[in-house]
Amino acid sequence: MAQKSIIIIGAGIAGLSAGCYGQMNGYRTQIFELQNKPGGLCTSWERKGYTINGCLHWLVGSSPANNFYRIWEELGAVQGRRMIDHEEFMRIEGAGGRSFIIYTDINRLEQHMKELSPADKEVIEEFIEGIRACTRSDLPIEKAPELYGPLNGFKVLFKLFPFLKIMRKWKKISVQGFAKRFSDPFLREAFPLSFDLPDFSMMAMLMTLAWMHNKAAGYPIGGSLEFSRAIEQRYLGLGGEIHYHSPVSKILTENDQAIGVRLADGTEHRSDIVISTADGHATIFDMLEGKYINDKIRGYYDKLPIFPPLVQVALGVARSFKGLPPSIIYPLKEPVTIAGQERKTIGAEIHNFDPTLAPQGKTVVKVMFASDYDYWKKLKQDLARYKAEKEQIADKVIALLDQHFPGLAGQVEMCDVATPITWERYTGNWRASFEGWLITTKTFGMRMGKTLPGLKNFYMAGQWVEPGGGVPSAAMSGRNVIQIICKQDKKPFAASIP
Ligand SMILES: Cc1cc2nc3c(=O)[nH]c(=O)nc-3n(C[C@H](O)[C@H](O)[C@H](O)COP(=O)(O)OP(=O)(O)OC[C@H]3O[C@@H](n4cnc5c(N)ncnc54)[C@H](O)[C@@H]3O)c2cc1C
Repeated sequence: MAQKSIIIIGAGIAGLSAGCYGQMNGYRTQIFELQNKPGGLCTSWERKGYTINGCLHWLVGSSPANNFYRIWEELGAVQGRRMIDHEEFMRIEGAGGRSFIIYTDINRLEQHMKELSPADKEVIEEFIEGIRACTRSDLPIEKAPELYGPLNGFKVLFKLFPFLKIMRKWKKISVQGFAKRFSDPFLREAFPLSFDLPDFSMMAMLMTLAWMHNKAAGYPIGGSLEFSRAIEQRYLGLGGEIHYHSPVSKILTENDQAIGVRLADGTEHRSDIVISTADGHATIFDMLEGKYINDKIRGYYDKLPIFPPLVQVALGVARSFKGLPPSIIYPLKEPVTIAGQERKTIGAEIHNFDPTLAPQGKTVVKVMFASDYDYWKKLKQDLARYKAEKEQIADKVIALLDQHFPGLAGQVEMCDVATPITWERYTGNWRASFEGWLITTKTFGMRMGKTLPGLKNFYMAGQWVEPGGGVPSAAMSGRNVIQIICKQDKKPFAASIP
């Protein structure tokens, strides 16, 4: 039988993964990518001798202690890569000189929290027990959930039973809601700043801290683009083809079957199957003109919350920040308005743990704020005002950091501001979301289909069909979609480690 061909839209982690597994399973794949490099959101960029790591804070599956590691090995992403497991996930400072330190070792975290607030012993123990319970579970990666038969489903349910019990309890509690249970006013205020997202599910927090405790969610030295490039190399090594600077404008269909794509330059490319890993909204409503949709899918885009867009100020600072933890949140002396919103705290990411990101003795420091997409969209209509706003934000951030790290303002050698418009332009993600669908107390554990109603030979993969997003989900999604295609073609799924 002739080799089937697959066109993949997007060379983000999901697209590269779909490409790799497609090649491993004997399909002839090619990827069309808008930009001139791989990675999508999982990227980095260079400015004046500094590298701004634009994505990875933690990589689930960074060590064999987690099932995902195998996928990263298959994708050639972790071999020879040094991972850093931070001692502190985050340090949140309070007005009165107190600090809530989220240690990644949960025994140390428990002791620290009890020292901070002995009166909250019971709530702290409940929290720590929640994390501890998650350290004992691992998510199954073997098979796409879409392919579970009744026996498989039962086996997985049985294995996951203890985890499902924990999930039932915690998924409906928000980080903000749980924080209210602390009697200590500082802990009550500081705790929700650790995952400062609306209605964010405690379950996601517990799982993240459990992965960190297990040393399975480290940071890959070299940063995000290096990581994506390794998967790009694996894909090319498997015989895949990537066309950069090739934005897809339409998915071509004939008799309700996907038959290829049309690029923005008008050229058309045919294939037996099309997989879109590009933004979900653009795929469904623009590339397919909203022809293949139902109320359920429309409802997602009308109603579900998304991870908010970000403003990011990255500074190259001629200073080592020796001994400081990777992430510090501290209260401002006075609230300030940044991008139209009042801010009472500021969070500084200090990238002193990766020597490849800055010249020796120097450091990239990043500050990120969630911001309003419409605010920026409107501002962008007046380029001069947009640029002025970016400069003003940079000046404010430098001044605020200087209050905390005296002398910093005079040590800044590089300043780079990215806004929601930057992310939207760079990756096409809907309303500049940085990770797709937000996991809330209502959406935790939600599943979405990878096909569209009425359209054959077409699949979606990546963060817009995997609520919660993240690079492991994106990689898994690309793998799962190829498993589904193999099943459709009645052939066993194959995966190998290079
Ligand atoms: C600041 C930040 C921090 C993050 N931190 C972490 C973290 O610590 N850990 C973690 O796991 N995740 C993190 N994430 C989330 C993670 O980066 C994403 O969820 C994941 O990379 C999504 O991958 P994807 O392939 O699904 O989508 P994308 O990365 O969006 O890839 C889609 C690709 O499609 C391309 N494309 C779009 N439209 C077209 C078109 N018309 N034609 C051709 N190509 C097109 C885009 O250019 C892009 O390359 C972070 C994200 C950000 C922004």
